[in-house]
Amino acid sequence: MAKRDYYEILGVAKNASDDDIKKAYRKLAMKYHPDRNQGDEAKKAEEKFKEVKEAYEMLSDAQKRAAYDQYGHAGVDPNMGGRGAGPEGFGGFAEAFGDIFGDIFGGAGGSRRGGGQQVYRGSDLSYAMEITLEEAAAGKESQIRIPSWEGCETCHGSGAKPGTSPKTCPTCSGSGTVHLRQGFFSIQQTCPHCHGSGKIIPEPCPSCGGAGKIKRQKTLEVKIPAGINEGMRIRSAGNGEPGTNGGPPGDLYIEIRIKQHEIFERDGDDLHCTVPVGMTTAALGGTIEVPTLGSKAEIELPEGTQHGKTFRLRGKGIKGIRSSYPGDLYAHVTVETPVKLTEHQRKLLRELDESFRKGGDRHSPNAKSWTDRVKDLFK
Ligand SMILES: [Zn+2]
Ligand SMILES: [Zn+2]
Repeated sequence: MAKRDYYEILGVAKNASDDDIKKAYRKLAMKYHPDRNQGDEAKKAEEKFKEVKEAYEMLSDAQKRAAYDQYGHAGVDPNMGGRGAGPEGFGGFAEAFGDIFGDIFGGAGGSRRGGGQQVYRGSDLSYAMEITLEEAAAGKESQIRIPSWEGCETCHGSGAKPGTSPKTCPTCSGSGTVHLRQGFFSIQQTCPHCHGSGKIIPEPCPSCGGAGKIKRQKTLEVKIPAGINEGMRIRSAGNGEPGTNGGPPGDLYIEIRIKQHEIFERDGDDLHCTVPVGMTTAALGGTIEVPTLGSKAEIELPEGTQHGKTFRLRGKGIKGIRSSYPGDLYAHVTVETPVKLTEHQRKLLRELDESFRKGGDRHSPNAKSWTDRVKDLFK
């Protein structure tokens, strides 16, 4: 069953004064009081009484009333788990939302008094971490230094100079919000004076400058999972900035950057590398060594290997975070033309060239086919 509106239960208007609310409550409490109802009526009256009592408890407390006005039942009922929209910055944290209010209104937080303060979740922090391709492939445990905040000892978190205390904000009377009338509409805004805290600090604490907290550094252990890729983010829950007025902290996001590798280029789970091969090796064939990530492998080049030929080394790529088997390594052969020839080498190459010419076109089928096509073009 949907919960009834608290104002409706008490039969008062949304803008009813505290006095009106108290009067309405007294009247209804008398009517439904268990002592005044007997027999069959007793059970029904008890339900009604509970409902009225709850409505009064919520609306008679400025802090709870402000929360109820802004968020409805989700804002004040710890049992409901708090669904519904929150203030900006709450997106996706609806679950935590109920807890925040539960915490504030649960009675345990005795130090939080003086107005319906806006509760905000802390900002998320982002941290860029640069790792090598090898580290990305194998995973890594790393320590990082991140900012952390601790309560100021001088003012015990109040932000006020010792001997003074924060005062209820006169602009919003401690509610943290102000209502602006625009024509028929009333628009609710965060109080520009206290920025939603509901309090102002006439004399700020000298240690923390009125923030009530001091920024420090802490070391965080981060586990980088094997197979992580460029641009992926690791979330470290609760390690962002602290919330306001008891709101939950934000999260820390570690964004991964991978350093350019000397040899390999990564494409998803696959790796690519270029392998320069001498002209004679390409012609004669032979075994060449290619590096793999963290090791090496051999490739058997067949006789007559052409420039641009690609060899696939199965499973020598990277096993991605969500992959069940590793990718492949592609070795792209580039045939290198010899340079800085000696007189003797030049002589040998001329002899070789003569021998090729005697053999006709069969030693260079690509060139033959190309020459034929060019001839056809000019016929
Ligand atoms: Zn204010
Ligand atoms: Zn302080």
